[in-house]
Order: sequence, then structure tokens, then C-alpha cells
Amino acid sequence: MTQRTDVVVIGGGQSGLAAGYHLRRLGVEHVILDAQTAPGGAWQHTWDSLRLFSPAAYSSLPGRLMPVQADEVYPDAQHVVSYLADYEKRYELPVQRGVWVEAVHRDAVFLRVETDSGAWQARAVVSATGTWTRPFLPAVPGRREFAGRQLHTVQYSNPAEFAGQRVIVVGGGNSGAQIAADLAGTADLTWVTQRPPRYLPDEIDGRALFDAATARRQALDAGRTDTGGVASLGDIVAVPPVRAARDAGLLAASPMFTRLTAEGVVWADGTESPADAVIWCTGFRPALAHFASMRLRGTRGHIATIGTRAVDEPRLHLLGYGDWTGPASATLIGVGRPAREAAREIAQLLSA
Ligand code: FAD
Repeated sequence: MTQRTDVVVIGGGQSGLAAGYHLRRLGVEHVILDAQTAPGGAWQHTWDSLRLFSPAAYSSLPGRLMPVQADEVYPDAQHVVSYLADYEKRYELPVQRGVWVEAVHRDAVFLRVETDSGAWQARAVVSATGTWTRPFLPAVPGRREFAGRQLHTVQYSNPAEFAGQRVIVVGGGNSGAQIAADLAGTADLTWVTQRPPRYLPDEIDGRALFDAATARRQALDAGRTDTGGVASLGDIVAVPPVRAARDAGLLAASPMFTRLTAEGVVWADGTESPADAVIWCTGFRPALAHFASMRLRGTRGHIATIGTRAVDEPRLHLLGYGDWTGPASATLIGVGRPAREAAREIAQLLSA
């Protein structure tokens, strides 16, 4: 059976909800299809000790401030899940759960959205599927030979299961630093980064990152010199657990190893270290496989956009994912603005 609506939003995490909020305000008929059976998007699956890198008020979606979490400046992931669950209820967002979007096809009038439980015809689509379902693992020699355990950020929960083990954490971003800090003291930890860790100054958190991303976008839009944005500030927000581990001398980083063997890793000088587990905190790619048949132009796994609108398909908007769909678009506070712009453009398209 094929159902029809004006807009299908694919993904019901924070980005999909922000889109729903603005579409609803503009009176645009829509449905939000989400693969998860419960609210909260990727926040349901993060490691236990994860903390936001901004205080609650600076981690809010449009319309509703995130409440402060008792005794915590930086809320945990469960707090975000509760906030998102409350958000979609409060704004009566039309989320359908447990629906996996398999493919989107286009014809002259409609975009056809095929799911594992039926198809939809829509006049526009917003894709807000995030990156969590597409963990990235680098092609390091010997990766398949290693006989120990290998996992990605998405599979890590807490240090208990690694107690006393020789664990190598790979990655100099926030995930790598936070997971290394989490394991320090419980596991026999080696933290490996491609270049020396670049901490942001301790007093700087996600608020400054958001400002930097916005300033960069404004500069680029006005034809001024690229300010370098977030990347110019550093890679790691020194959230309290990271700061504590670093200051206790538990976060010394080693340069990247050259290859894996069955037993462990080989360093650049040829020496070897045995390991029981390697945790790859090596990032993500956008989850866009559902557009494969549309053959949309793009580089690095992205789809080319102007703002949030796909260059090659004006009925398609992309939300979240990264700065390429709007400054700080892949953050709680940053997604509101591109969501508003996407909803406005869609409303105009529908009324044309
Ligand atoms: P997601 O939360 O991943 O939601 C996408 C939804 O779409 C999911 O429910 C998914 O199941 C669903 N989906 C995917 N594919 C399909 C499909 N084909 N069909 C149907 N449904 C589908 N941001 C901050 O603001 N502050 C922070 O402190 C912060 N910390 C972070 C820490 C980590 C480790 C990571 C990885 C990210 C962090 N972020 C942070 C960034 C960002 O806020 C999150 O990644 C956020 O989850 C992105 O929201 P989203 O809605 O775009 O994607």
C-alpha cells in the first residue's frame, strides 16, 4: 500500500524532530519515519559515562530549553533521551517508529519513499538519518589479522568489561579522549592519536564551538577569509572527566602504530606491543544509502547541497550530518536554524 503526504522526514533523532517542529509551525503536513523503536536517536546507544560538551541551556532544540540535570553542568546521554522524548510528545510530532527507509526514488511529481512496512509518496523529503549507523574504520594494515577484540565507539559501553586488559584506544577526537579517560585506571591503556592531542582551553566548551562554526559560515557567506571554524580551536573539549584524567597524567598519547598483528600492534620503530582489544574512535560517515538509486552528486560520501537543499534535487533537504548542511548542524543547539530554513524552503516549494 502507498500512502501520501506532503513531506517525509527520514530519521526521528534530534534533527528529524527539529524539522518536524518547524514544519508543524508552518502548517506543513508531514510524517517522521524512524528506524528506532524508542525516542532519542543515537543518544540511546552511547557509552554510559558520555557527557555533553555544552551545558543544558546550550544543548536545546528550537522552542524548548533543555532542563538542567540535577547537580550536573554537562548533562549525560540519558538526560538527552528524556528531553527528546518529552520534546516530540509536547509538540505532538507525527513520529512513526520501527520503520526502516530502504530507498528513495524520484519521478516527475513525487519522491517515492520505500520502507520495510510500505511506501510513501511525498512532495518533499528531509533526510535526518545522522551518522551513528555508519561507523568508520580506517584501512590499517593487519586489521583482519588481529586475534583480539576490535570495536568501534558505537559498541563501547563502559570500562568494566576491559578491567585489567591491554586496551588500545585509537583516535584524537572527543570520543577517543573521553573513552580513553573512561578506561584509564581500569584497563592497561594505550591511547593512540595521529597527531598530538589538541585540547581546547579548559574554559572553552561547546558554546564556543557553536560560535566558531557560525562565524565561519557567516565569513564564507560574505566572501571573507575562512576563519577555520571549529577545527582552528582544537579537537578535544576538556570536559571534566577528560580534564581529570589528563591532569592526573593518565592520558599520554602515542603516535599511530604502523600495523596490527595477530597479537597486537607494531610501532614505527619496529617494536611490538601485545593487546587484548583495540577500540576504534575513528569517526563516522553520513547514513545516506537510501539515496543510492538517485545518483546525487557529491564528494566524501556527502550529497552536494546549497544550505540544506540538495543541488541536484530541490525536493530533498539534508539535516544534521555535519557543517556541510549548516554551521554546527550536527549538534543539538546548531540544528534548529538549518531546520527552520529547510522547512521554509519546503513550504515555499509546496505553495509554488
Ligand atoms: P541521530 O541521533 O543518529 O538520529 C538519526 C535517526 O535516524 C536514528 O534514530 C536512526 O535510527 C534513524 N535512521 C537512520 N537511518 C534510517 C533509515 N534508513 N530509515 C529510518 N530511520 C533511520 N552534539 C551536541 O550538541 N553536544 C554534544 O555534547 C555531542 N556529543 C557527541 C558525542 C558523540 C560521541 C557523538 C558521536 C556525537 C555527539 N554530538 C553532540 C553530535 C550530535 O548531536 C549527535 O551525533 C546526534 O545524535 C545527531 O542527531 P541526528 O538526529 O542528526 O542523528
